[in-house]
Amino acid sequence: MNGAAPPEEDDEDDASRADRSGEIKLPPTLESSGPVPEKAEIVIVGGGVMGLAIAYYLSTMGLEDVVVVERGYLAEGASGRNGGGVRQQWATEINIRLMQQSVELCQRFAVDIGVNVWFRQGGYLFLARSAKEVARLEKNIALQNRCGVATRMLDPQGAKQIVPEIDLTGIVGASYNPTDGILFPWPFLWGYARQATAHGVRIFTQTPVTGLTKRSQGGYDVVTERGTIAARRVINACGAWSPTLAKMIGVEIPTFPIRHEICSSEPLKPFLKPMVSELASGLYCSQSMRGEIVGGVTIPGHASTYAKTSTLEFLATYSRRLVKLMPILGDIKILRQWAGPYDQSPDGNPILAPTREHPDFFLACGFVGHGFMMAPIVGKLYAEWLTGGTKHEIFERYTLDRFDDGSGSAHPKEDFNIG
Ligand SMILES: Cc1cc2nc3c(=O)[nH]c(=O)nc-3n(C[C@H](O)[C@H](O)[C@H](O)COP(=O)(O)OP(=O)(O)OC[C@H]3O[C@@H](n4cnc5c(N)ncnc54)[C@H](O)[C@@H]3O)c2cc1C
Repeated sequence: MNGAAPPEEDDEDDASRADRSGEIKLPPTLESSGPVPEKAEIVIVGGGVMGLAIAYYLSTMGLEDVVVVERGYLAEGASGRNGGGVRQQWATEINIRLMQQSVELCQRFAVDIGVNVWFRQGGYLFLARSAKEVARLEKNIALQNRCGVATRMLDPQGAKQIVPEIDLTGIVGASYNPTDGILFPWPFLWGYARQATAHGVRIFTQTPVTGLTKRSQGGYDVVTERGTIAARRVINACGAWSPTLAKMIGVEIPTFPIRHEICSSEPLKPFLKPMVSELASGLYCSQSMRGEIVGGVTIPGHASTYAKTSTLEFLATYSRRLVKLMPILGDIKILRQWAGPYDQSPDGNPILAPTREHPDFFLACGFVGHGFMMAPIVGKLYAEWLTGGTKHEIFERYTLDRFDDGSGSAHPKEDFNIG
């Protein structure tokens, strides 16, 4: 989880500030004016982490003529508003295994990409307040251990050994995996973007896609405010806005936006190593490199909206929950609060692969609250497949067709979609 406010109008300032500190190199060459090319092999719509991860891997696997089209600035969507949590504690084997690989890619990111993303493996500590939650954690841990993830069950005292500041009242157990972690989201995007452009990808920012039509000779016309691109293949990486793009060619995607709020405090002396999350309330918090406590909480029935505005309800709920869990934080000041859209899918899992009627229109959406952590591995697997390599089972399993019967029940639901 990072401790910075989301970029609003001044993300360029953040970039140059970071650059002056010597820790982040210059942002990539983005084309924010001038015409788009007349044709491309692949057009990726959406300059969030998913679109950029796919673009980066496609370019490193030798695919030429890849174009990314972003309507605003990089990380304008959920990717610039998230907590940066990266965990392997999941309830389904496929997600555990994907995340094991993603964690490896995060560990290598600085070396492979040349950007420090401050990836810190301080673990994730999930707290249970009922026997039912303990049973749920135990079931997940058994599966995680079978996959080689070293999560372990702790009694309340064991949890307190890891975070002594926790008030144990009502806590009955916890799960802890020491290799889960937190990273800083923005340089992650810049890193992918810079390396992708270095490998020939062209990234057009401030370029909304306003139309999409199937070409009679194959492929699509991607209509933007700066010209039309004839694309052989299109990847929809528009996050919570993916249904709008898909609808342009008559494809209905059953995801919807859920506003998710988050905030950060004044900086404190470092004391909190893991991400701490409480199952019952969906509270999560971690400490950033700068010392801020960054966290959020589930607001039941939170509006399905793209609104990025903040609510007092969130602040009050979060503050009450946080102080109950860690009374030591009773006096801290919250400095920033912001929101972004989760791209909620009906079964908590992403929607990948092309649609039946549109074999050259690929989906990469529906990542709910875990698209950041999954982007490295999903980007890599997508690129392997699209460059003629192995087609991973996620592209058979996480199709749009699975919702044809209205439920998506062909595969286990991912119900550990918190924190
Ligand atoms: C508050 C919050 C906390 C979160 N915490 C975590 C976390 O700890 N860990 C984690 O893994 N995930 C987390 N997530 C989820 C994560 O941020 C997302 O799953 C992920 O960023 C999705 O990336 P994306 O590239 O698919 O979508 P986005 O980042 O939303 O990118 C989509 C892009 O498409 C662009 N776009 C849309 N329509 C068009 C168009 N017509 N033309 C051109 N461009 C278009 C948008 O401008 C946007 O930039 C969190 C999300 C939120 C909101």
